[in-house]
Parts: sequence; C-alpha cells; structure tokens
Amino acid sequence: MSVDGRKTVKTALVVGRFAPSPTGPLHFGSLVAAIGSYCLARQVGGRWLVRMEDLDRLRVVPGAADEILCTLEACGMVWDGPVLYQSRRTARYEAALERLRGTGLIFPCGCSRKEVLASAPHAGEEGPVYPGTCRERIASGRRPRALRIRVPGDRVCYVDGVFGLREQQLSAAVGDFVLRRADGLFAYQLAVVVDDAESGVTQVVRGADLLSSTPRQIFLQSCLGYPVPDHIHLPLALAADGRKISKRDGAAAAVGAELWKALRFLGQPVPKALSKAPPGEIVAWGVEHFQLQRVPAASAATSCLTTSWTKA
Ligand code: GLU
Repeated sequence: MSVDGRKTVKTALVVGRFAPSPTGPLHFGSLVAAIGSYCLARQVGGRWLVRMEDLDRLRVVPGAADEILCTLEACGMVWDGPVLYQSRRTARYEAALERLRGTGLIFPCGCSRKEVLASAPHAGEEGPVYPGTCRERIASGRRPRALRIRVPGDRVCYVDGVFGLREQQLSAAVGDFVLRRADGLFAYQLAVVVDDAESGVTQVVRGADLLSSTPRQIFLQSCLGYPVPDHIHLPLALAADGRKISKRDGAAAAVGAELWKALRFLGQPVPKALSKAPPGEIVAWGVEHFQLQRVPAASAATSCLTTSWTKA
C-alpha cells in the first residue's frame, strides 16, 4: 500500500540483451535477433544491454565489434550501460568455475576431439555425445585437457516464448559438456550464463540455433544458484539453399529497408509505407506494435542477405 492508501503494483523490470559474436559485420540473422530483443525489452520500459561474445580470439575479426555497434546506432537501437566484452571477463568465468568445482561435478578430461568423435555412442543434435571416458577417472597416462561438467539423467524442461514446451535429457543429447576447452578458453555455455546472471538479464531473445543450448545453460544456472531468465528463440533466417546465413552471404543494403524486412520476417505487419522511412521510425513502430504471438515458430529462407550497410 502506498501512503495515500491505493495499492501499488510492482512490476519486475525486464532486462533484455543482444549478444553478437564479432566475427564479421551484422548480418540479417543477427539484425533479426537485435530488433526482436530490442522491441520486446523496450515496449515494457525494460533495459536493453549489448554484449560482445569475443572469447574465441581466432574467430574475432578486428573492427567487427565497432562496426556492429555503429550499425545498431544507425538503426537507433541505443543500449543501456557500457558494452560488455567477454574477452575482459575471464576472471568472472574462473570464479564461477571455482564455485562449480565445489559441487564436485567438474572433472578433467584427457580425450581429444577426435577420440570423442570416434568413441561417441551416437551423434546428438549438438554433435557427438561424450561417452563418459574420463568421468570417473582420467584415463591413465593422459594429461588433463578440457574441464567437463557431469550432467544428470533428468530432463531439463522450459517453455520458450515462441517454440513452446522444450525438453532435453542432457545425458542423451550432449553428455558431460566442456566448460573450459583444451586451449584454455572458457566455453560459450559457461560465459553466457555468468554474463546473463551478473548483468541481471531476465529475458534472453536470440536465434533458434541456440534452442538446444538452452537446457545446458538452465542446468548451469541451477548449479550456480542463478535465476533462469525467460527464453524467446526467434526463427532463423536461412539462405535460399537452406543453410543458416553467415557473415559471408550478402551485399550492401540500406539499414532502414533491412529493419523493415527483419520485422516482416518476424511476422509483424509493419506498413509498406514505412519501408523507406528512416531507421529510427521503423524501430519506433516495432517497439510500439511488436507482438510475440505473431512470430512464426519456423525458420525460413530469406532473400535479405546483408553483410554491409549503407547509412540510409
Ligand atoms: N553470440 C551468439 C551469436 O552471435 C549469441 C549468443 C546468445 O545470444 O546467447 O549467435
């Protein structure tokens, strides 16, 4: 109750985020994730964060992070607070790993990728399922390479905002998965969970290619005592031949026109007249009118293959 006797309703602040990997300029698929996460956070007065997933230095393209930020700015998608760079956060991942060690679930693995591939009982949707070779004890004469986490046999269930009820049995789908790779790099699965929790993210909006990573992340969240954010996976924009589009596809296009196409791709009835409007106007339409129930739960081919942008 407030002082004047009226009931006050507290609504939790939505914190959304966009987490591109700076392996090239923003392509149409990433633009879809950016506009979707932006509209869903902003239309309820929420915060919207940007994080650069630049842990894998071999895949990072110099200048790509700045180029992505410039494109977001050109679209009028302004983020809150400083951009987080994963490459500067290894101490935080180390601390989380230390806490996980305390649970007794972490073990060193001496297997090479080739060996896992050769001995995996079957390939899951995420590649070969780890057969548990070093689970109890590292094979004799082997030096530890990666650090893995032991997964339970239970099913992890969650309700996705677009794809509905999802479930996965980690032991059957992926097996004990890597948290620190043989080259010392922290795995995406750990970094994303630590960053989302420490940034207070409540709403994860991203491409459907990560649908099957989410159960691993929910499992890590439970091990670390972190809250589980809402998950909304967006359909994937595919190239005409059915491939996931990559930074290699495409040609220059005007930012506004691509934003318009991105909203249409997400099932939003953005008026045709806006297709040539300034980007800020298209984004403002999206924030006001975006409806999650209109987003199709199927990935689709697109002709919008953009990798470089003209600021029109
Ligand atoms: N960095 C990932 C990508 O660019 C997205 C990760 C995420 O949103 O959790 O596809």
